Amino acid sequence: MSQVEAREHHRFQAGGADFVYLVPSAAVFQLDEPSRAVLDLLAGGARALDSILESLAGRFRPSEVHDALVELRGVRAIGETGVPFPKAAKQLPAPNFPLSTMVLNLTNQCNLACTYCYEYGEDKIVDTQYGAKSKFMNEETARESVEFLIKESGRSAHLTFFGGETLMNFPVLRSTIAYARRRAAEENKEIDFSLTTNATLLKPEIIEFLAENRVGVTVSIDGPKEMQDQFRVFHNGKGSYEVVAPKVKELLKRHTSRPIGARVTLTSRTLDIRKIFRHLREEIGFWEVGFAPVTTAPGRGYAIGEDGFDRMLEQFRGLAFEYRDFALEHRHHGFSNVRDTIEELHKGMSKSHPCGAGLGLMGVSTDGDVSLCHRFAGSEDHKFGTVKTGVDRLVQIGFLEKHHVDDKTDCNRCWARPVCAGGCYHEAHTRFGDTNHPVLHYCDWIRGWTHTCLEIYGELAVKNPAYLRQFDGEEQHEASHVS
Ligand code: SF4
Ligand code: SF4
Repeated sequence: MSQVEAREHHRFQAGGADFVYLVPSAAVFQLDEPSRAVLDLLAGGARALDSILESLAGRFRPSEVHDALVELRGVRAIGETGVPFPKAAKQLPAPNFPLSTMVLNLTNQCNLACTYCYEYGEDKIVDTQYGAKSKFMNEETARESVEFLIKESGRSAHLTFFGGETLMNFPVLRSTIAYARRRAAEENKEIDFSLTTNATLLKPEIIEFLAENRVGVTVSIDGPKEMQDQFRVFHNGKGSYEVVAPKVKELLKRHTSRPIGARVTLTSRTLDIRKIFRHLREEIGFWEVGFAPVTTAPGRGYAIGEDGFDRMLEQFRGLAFEYRDFALEHRHHGFSNVRDTIEELHKGMSKSHPCGAGLGLMGVSTDGDVSLCHRFAGSEDHKFGTVKTGVDRLVQIGFLEKHHVDDKTDCNRCWARPVCAGGCYHEAHTRFGDTNHPVLHYCDWIRGWTHTCLEIYGELAVKNPAYLRQFDGEEQHEASHVS
């Protein structure tokens, strides 16, 4: 007689209910009593159908168990033993996959000298200081980049500006926005703009320009003075908080056409996440705050070690449950990490690659080289082409094929792979010298965090499903994590 077994899944409880996260399909499924009992039984190994019915006979009617089996089979939470789960063919993008986000590195120069910076610090990939790379993008290259984006994008395109410190090249930023707007209108396409800045160079006319042009702004900032000034210092070693804080307040007061977010780099010495969040959200007034651990080779003093990841997860969990409480009352909270993951869960995203880099997102260096993403801009080893000559599709597809999650042995057995898919290429390159290496030093943290977000998602699904409707249909932008 044939036997059934549980397929790959992850169990969790939320809002007083039991759920499973079905890994191959990235779907979340709420369990009723009989289906929970079936999965409990199958946790001990495969069983014949008769044996399941017999074991559960005292607790449920046969028709209830039968219905549970049909339903679990329908969502592919269980299946016959010996019949492998029908694995989807390895999906690769079509050769003419449109580019949706282009990140222009307007300069590789910066007026700050943050110790942990991946562009200038100890772990840099590209030698921007002594190498042959142009320090600033000129207007001609910026226009060629716009033409490249217009040609390669679909109906809508997102242009985001990055550095170094982006605002050190404000004249080119301003003229490129005007040019891109005109060209997009001529080609009947929609275009949208954003930038990342350390905020030190903000002044009234720049703020006015950003507000008028509805440019999305992300400020790289690490929290209150004692945290910001640990690493985010000027070249003379002086902390930047006193310069940055009033400028950001001015920006928030005047630029109300788009919500403005803060992006915090966490290190082993600045791990008081609650305090940072309160300061940036409540005292400074950012609309949302997102956190990312510093990208660094192991052994640096500021690298987050295993204990640090545990502490980080504990604090992330605390803030995430606070987010849930707000969401239950339809209130905005502002912890963007939880929002982004919940959105991915709601959309049932199952990633073939960790992020949009090389897929719908590409970075352009100051001299017009097109690479994987902004963090690799200017690196010969991660170059796909140039804005002038276009992208070598064979190189691009070769990269995507090699980095597909299906080919990562460790990830293949991991239940969090629909959300993670192996982790940031830049993190992997910095840590292991190989973009294709899974970020294994992070895995417990990623699984712990995904579990937390599933709990929040499940509870909202039970108690306030209307809240989740904001994530229906709307496309998630790759630019949301450009940092
Ligand atoms: S990198 Fe780690 S957490 Fe991410 S999918 Fe691979 S094994 Fe899972
Ligand atoms: S996650 Fe990493 S590889 Fe992907 S776009 Fe961001 S920095 Fe680049």
